[in-house]
Amino acid sequence: MARVYNFSAGPAVLPEEVLKEAAAEMLDYQGSGQSVMEMSHRSKVYDNIIKEAEADLRDLMKIPDNYKVLFLQGGASQFFAEVPMNLMKNKKAAYIITGQWAKKAYKEAQIYGDAVAVASSEDKTFSYIPDCSDLDIPEDADYVYICENNTIYGTKFKTLPNTKGHILVADVSSCFLSEPIDVTKYGVVYGGVQKNIGPAGVVIAIIREDLITDDVLPGTPTLLKWKTQADNDSLYNTPPCYNIYICGKVFKWIKKMGGLDAMKAHNEKKAKILYDFLDESKMFKGTVVKEDRSLMNVPFVTGDKELDAKFVEEAGKAGFVNLKGHRTVGGMRASIYNAMPIEGVEKLVEFMRAFEKENTKND
Ligand SMILES: *Cc1c(COP(=O)(O)O)cnc(C)c1O
Repeated sequence: MARVYNFSAGPAVLPEEVLKEAAAEMLDYQGSGQSVMEMSHRSKVYDNIIKEAEADLRDLMKIPDNYKVLFLQGGASQFFAEVPMNLMKNKKAAYIITGQWAKKAYKEAQIYGDAVAVASSEDKTFSYIPDCSDLDIPEDADYVYICENNTIYGTKFKTLPNTKGHILVADVSSCFLSEPIDVTKYGVVYGGVQKNIGPAGVVIAIIREDLITDDVLPGTPTLLKWKTQADNDSLYNTPPCYNIYICGKVFKWIKKMGGLDAMKAHNEKKAKILYDFLDESKMFKGTVVKEDRSLMNVPFVTGDKELDAKFVEEAGKAGFVNLKGHRTVGGMRASIYNAMPIEGVEKLVEFMRAFEKENTKND
């Protein structure tokens, strides 16, 4: 069996241990004689799976009791609509535009009300995080929205914006569980799990209880109303049962690794290896302002499109896959999520160093 080093931005690498465990339980989950894919979501055995997943997540993130944890479908993209549907009481919201995903959320919110862009880094291809210490946020804005880690561009908010008393809503799809966060600073924290937690098809939303009400925009579908999901413990209809089960296994894996503090240390160590190399290399350059660099997504370029393509191809042949950058940035991107082992990054840097040597003319 040849496993590659997978640097995909998402769906992305999962812990090998989790995959092996799931494989071992595929035909008979803990003596039930069924796979988790085949069992009723109303069964006792499945109820234990989803309850334990929630309990482990609460434990890992130290989620206070006045926050609900929901396991939803539709991807992060559907949640772009759920946010205004559930929160736009005044039909006004402030968006900070730091990349494609923030922009898509902003565009979606415009369908439902007055979404205002209060800051943007589009002027420099989203290569930095704008100063958000004193933004011009409309007094009656229902919330302030950020994409905390910008998957495509490789930037991350190191300090949260000053929302001036407004509710903060954050898309954490690509930095979920990569380090500890203070949940109390947010009204809503949510993300698609396929970047750092599990198989595509689940969105986890952590929502302050007072924001979950019947007072939603007219026309909001029953299923997209957070109250429906909260009142039914994410079991109003059939949830993505198997995917939630895998998420639960990943939570246990993170706990075993030492929790979010240990995860952060592990991720900082990995990112440093790659960024240090990019800073010393004459061929490869990081594309992001140093202070705003993401621990999870690392875009880089050679400055020569043909050389970029050659690198991606040769890296792929050597077992380092999915390194091609997003089409709007070009070049390469290495996503080094929780489950990427440190050896994966060390070996990638070794490969980059050798590639640079081979492809530099000595004249
Ligand atoms: C991938 C991604 C999305 C989109 O997720 P879907 O589940 O495909 O809708 C949204 N936001 C961020 C930050 C992402 O990385």
